[in-house]
Amino acid sequence: MPSTFQRTLARPLAGDGERWRAVLARDATADGSFVYAVRSTRVYCRSSCPARRPRPEQVRFFADGDAARAAGYRPCRRCRPDEGEPAVRQSELVSRICRFIAAAETAPSLRELAQRAGLSASHFHRLFAAYTGVTPRAYFHAVRASRVRSQLRDGLTVTAAAYEAGFNSSSRFYAAAQRVLGMKPGAVRHGGAGEEIRYATAHCDLGTVLAALSERGICAILLGDNKRPLLAELRGLFPNATLHPAGANGGAALRAVVALVDGQPALLGKLPLDIRGTVFQLRVWEMLRKIPAGGVATYAEIASQLGMPRAARAVANACAANRLAVAIPCHRVLRGNGELGGYRWGLQRKRELLRRERGSTPGS
Ligand SMILES: [Zn+2]
Repeated sequence: MPSTFQRTLARPLAGDGERWRAVLARDATADGSFVYAVRSTRVYCRSSCPARRPRPEQVRFFADGDAARAAGYRPCRRCRPDEGEPAVRQSELVSRICRFIAAAETAPSLRELAQRAGLSASHFHRLFAAYTGVTPRAYFHAVRASRVRSQLRDGLTVTAAAYEAGFNSSSRFYAAAQRVLGMKPGAVRHGGAGEEIRYATAHCDLGTVLAALSERGICAILLGDNKRPLLAELRGLFPNATLHPAGANGGAALRAVVALVDGQPALLGKLPLDIRGTVFQLRVWEMLRKIPAGGVATYAEIASQLGMPRAARAVANACAANRLAVAIPCHRVLRGNGELGGYRWGLQRKRELLRRERGSTPGS
């Protein structure tokens, strides 16, 4: 039974008005999401076709070339709407520009990047954002921040790392870091350093559950076959934290978490969660938390809900990086064709969680 969330997401394409605007703008980022056909010429095109724009009353929209051909139209020879190459060309172009930005010392101007790409500034900006989900400037800062992040892991102080990475004042650095890393630099450097994390494990129908608690809340819920690899996984997530098996202190809370995984997963999301990730991951996870039990969404739906229709793969990666099993229900995200996709803690468990929630086994 489709949930409300699914129905909202199911809104598959923008309305004709929006498609027409994409046609008028020769918007290459809309290529692949629809084709438009011209009644008088019986030809259909991709939105970026360089041909002269038809009069609006002559235009019909179709979801794809198959639908247009079924209605008696033939593909345009100029823009070849059924060939995937523009998308490939575009993604190669964007990755080339990404490499250029990553190597730059200072943030390149939009004009410079657009020239390099051979596109107008606005077209380039749109294309870049469609593929990466961020502006070129944000990308530059993210790359720089990730350099900072690796230096922090290597033990530089926050201030030294800020200077090394080219931020000239550490307050700007803090503001940028929080935006890009999704957490304070201190906390990254931590990898949990100076933090005490308590954990408990228990058996349940899904195997072994490990729940971990930081000062801020539940910071990990991991699933596995037995305790040892789960502890290793926890250590990998918080390499510098001190890990303690929960005794009297926090033990009851963690045992409750473990019990909830099995019995009342819906309550898990209501507990104080200590969620750590990049801004993009946080946005994806926040979206996942809105999928109700029994509902599902696809990676592509989440991506388009985030306003980044091409970021389905990045969404899948964010799901795979989730460290709060069940509480952040990444198991409710499937591939577009209904396949299960991946699951950090094993497809068997994903299938089982979905079966419990929906009362039936989804395709696999
Ligand atoms: Zn065309």
